[in-house]
Amino acid sequence: MYGKILENFSTTVAVMTITMNPEHALTTYEGGCHCGAVRFAVDVAPQPEIEDCNCSICRKTGFLHLIVPRSRFRLLQGEAMLQTYRFNTGIAQHYFCKTCGIKPFYIPRSNPDGVDVNVRCLDREIADMQVVKFDGQHWEQHAHTLAHKSQSSD
Ligand SMILES: [Zn+2]
Repeated sequence: MYGKILENFSTTVAVMTITMNPEHALTTYEGGCHCGAVRFAVDVAPQPEIEDCNCSICRKTGFLHLIVPRSRFRLLQGEAMLQTYRFNTGIAQHYFCKTCGIKPFYIPRSNPDGVDVNVRCLDREIADMQVVKFDGQHWEQHAHTLAHKSQSSD
């Protein structure tokens, strides 16, 4: 009888742990610019949805978007090497390395409380990522669909 109670109890605890700790399955990836001056780490949830955007700047940079809450991003080195480029509303802060010109991450207009990491700048591929098209040419109509990506309970 006690065995059954304990069994139920541990099942309950296990469920509670998963529910209360949504970070349980995050995987940390490191990445950087081409010359190595800028380095960062990012914690990634399973099966992340990655946007392939067709807006004026993303088409030209080939940026693949992994948007995360700011708490899941750490700049490891190279802050002084980052140059900022702004255009249009000026809300987005497009960072690129002063030396090699690569844009490893930036602060997007859709998620100013988060960080948008360029999946192409990670040291290794995210095997289970799912790339979806994002129509950035009609940004005003679609940006709201990204807002939840920078929200986190941590
Ligand atoms: Zn660089």
